[in-house]
Amino acid sequence: MEAPNPYESAKQHVERVGQMLGLDRGIIDILKTPHRELGVNFPVKMDDGTIRIFSGYRVQHSSVRGPCKGGIRYHPKVTLDEVRALSMWMTWKCAVVGLPYGGAKGGVICDVKKMSKGELERMTRRYASEIAIIIGPQEDIPAPDVYTDSQTMAWIMDTYSMGVGHAVPGVVTGKPVEIGGSKGRDEATSRGVMYIAQESAKARGMNLKGAKVAVQGFGNVGWHAARLLHQEAGCTIIAVSDSQGGIYSPKGLDPLKVMDHKKATGAVKDYPGAKNISNEELLELECDILVPAALENVITMENASSIRAKIVIEGANGPTAPMADKILMDKGIMLVPDILANAGGVTVSYFEWVQDLQFFFWTLEQINERLKEIMTTAFARVHAISQEKKVDMRTAAYMVSLTEVARALELRGVFP
Ligand code: NAD
Repeated sequence: MEAPNPYESAKQHVERVGQMLGLDRGIIDILKTPHRELGVNFPVKMDDGTIRIFSGYRVQHSSVRGPCKGGIRYHPKVTLDEVRALSMWMTWKCAVVGLPYGGAKGGVICDVKKMSKGELERMTRRYASEIAIIIGPQEDIPAPDVYTDSQTMAWIMDTYSMGVGHAVPGVVTGKPVEIGGSKGRDEATSRGVMYIAQESAKARGMNLKGAKVAVQGFGNVGWHAARLLHQEAGCTIIAVSDSQGGIYSPKGLDPLKVMDHKKATGAVKDYPGAKNISNEELLELECDILVPAALENVITMENASSIRAKIVIEGANGPTAPMADKILMDKGIMLVPDILANAGGVTVSYFEWVQDLQFFFWTLEQINERLKEIMTTAFARVHAISQEKKVDMRTAAYMVSLTEVARALELRGVFP
């Protein structure tokens, strides 16, 4: 079956919760519509001397609560609708944890695995200069997402800075620490996932120590989540996966050793002592906590009834199709939605931006302490609403976000 269009899914959530909250029709329509969309087609010189045209986007969903904020994704399957959906989710994410930002997202259609570092740098710099007309520390601040990293952000920061003639570290977050990045940013999303796991386990009366955890995706979010849940929360990581498949060991995997294996072989599969499994099998394993941390639409109508986790924490954006939510809820599975569960990344991005604007930097302890406070406070607020209104955690998180953004819209009014 064809995967649901993420933009349609994103709009469905807004429509449903907007109506539940009794929001004005016009406000719901504003909330469902990205404010600004830029599409760019641009040439890049490849290593073999040929010129290739790449296509990319930058979508700003809302700037009603502050500058737009959101990652840049490099993937062959990037579409405008995917970028629109991701930009919208960023608005809700920033609102649910109380950051003074609206949402944005960017993407370039490309396959980084088939490009050299030089090609990637030239593509990134050209894309950065194409979108420079709408980004900036007061306007829209990109960050890493799928297949982009701190090096990508360093190139964007440099390209933007060359254009204005001075260093502008606040134009992107997720940069290397040496050029204005924040301590703790690389693991922030996953550290947030761990704090959410701690709070969810408490809410479910579950002991996190020794809890069986399966993590889909072994990139930035999945790898650090597996590592932190293992090292700091004492969980048993029974399965991890990447795009080439997964591995399963009921006795538990050491994420650090699995990373060594992935570095040496290029994949987690064939890890000594573990059984190779497919990504589909990983999702259906019997476990306490399942962390989908790869791509969207992996928990669907087809497999939702086979999910056997007690808690699902959405490390990725949009891993659960809308129709699957109800199936999980009916099975008594607690699902912590992406807009809350993976908000640790944008929270430390916010810290990075604040530090960049002030040219004054914080310690790792300060970062982690403030991150913990924001994540646990947001979880408590969403959980309380879900209990009080007898709704699932996603609906409760949307209730918080939509209320915050709608209130900001009402206060600012519709221009002119
Ligand atoms: P990444 O590129 O570092 O890692 C992606 C991982 O997913 C890789 O291990 C890759 O092998 C795996 N993968 C790709 N296709 C797959 C497939 N079909 N099945 C299973 N695994 C597959 O990306 P990331 O930054 O870790 O982002 C992962 C998810 O988390 C995305 O949805 C992203 O939007 C979301 N997210 C990231 C951040 C962040 O700070 N990086 C913050 C919030 C949300």
